[in-house]
Amino acid sequence: MLPFKLIYSDEYYLPIGQHVFPAEKYRQIHQRLLETKVAEPADFVTPSLASDQDILLVHKPDYVQKLKTGTLSAKEELEMEIPYSPELVKAFWLAAGGSILAAQHALQDGVAINIGGGFHHAFPDHGEGFCMIHDVAVAIRRMQRDEKIRTAMTVDCDVHQGNGTAAIFAGTRIPSDSLPSQHHSTPRVRNAHAGDVFTISLHQHNNYPMWKPPSSIDVDLPDGTGDDDYLAWLDNALSSGLRQFEPQLICYLAGADPYKEDQLGGLSLSIDGLKRRDELVFHVAKARGIPVMVTYAGGYARNVEDTVSIHCNTVVAAQEVFAHAT
Ligand SMILES: [Zn+2]
Repeated sequence: MLPFKLIYSDEYYLPIGQHVFPAEKYRQIHQRLLETKVAEPADFVTPSLASDQDILLVHKPDYVQKLKTGTLSAKEELEMEIPYSPELVKAFWLAAGGSILAAQHALQDGVAINIGGGFHHAFPDHGEGFCMIHDVAVAIRRMQRDEKIRTAMTVDCDVHQGNGTAAIFAGTRIPSDSLPSQHHSTPRVRNAHAGDVFTISLHQHNNYPMWKPPSSIDVDLPDGTGDDDYLAWLDNALSSGLRQFEPQLICYLAGADPYKEDQLGGLSLSIDGLKRRDELVFHVAKARGIPVMVTYAGGYARNVEDTVSIHCNTVVAAQEVFAHAT
């Protein structure tokens, strides 16, 4: 039995037909975790749909209304890059319910993993990049509304910048120079602001989204960044962020798409490097006694089995870090 909960539903499957987003990955991860005996059925808890009230903590009433009544414009649906259906709306409400449940379990057990979610390209008033509803932001705002936390930090390791996250949590800008100055061939680091949610994003600079609204810390990585450089920059960003800010919850977006075989990514991490990435985040959170909730975000490996392996390894990494006393 794992010392933490996995949040999962068969209904996480996104009904989007043939698509570069492997909607079946959630079911495959669930199956693999059981087959390999990493997890047992009792480790999983089933989420229910987020309420509209929860969704409205982040999203604009007009947008929610359009989603519920199927009245997005053709342009809005195109921008979302997944075909609208009422079933899809339900899947995103469920993902948000899953992230709320993950946050609650993380606050209780120190860590919890949503075998889904991480839809970081959703904005308050529109969806884009396969994301309709920002489940992580909904979970944070719900925990704040329930007065379980005041502050949170997002650590976004998807290969694509967390533009929705940055926009939603944009706070008062403060000047900062706490990361080392960049020089030729090192990533460009931007360090902007902190409201009640501090946002960190490590991503490939030359990739979607074209317009990257400033996170609290953005690490714009050059094409082809490999394991060691990536881990050094992640370590650096976490140290810098935690010097500036004291979160009561870390929301880790464990995207599988920095993988070298990803179809939508241009970084060069190995499967082992991605597991070391997960371990690093968990070690830092555990050492500081900060609860961490995990969502999965993207993953478009040529071979979907690799995406499944990377996501399953996140559970193994959490087990290895959290099962033992420090
Ligand atoms: Zn991505």
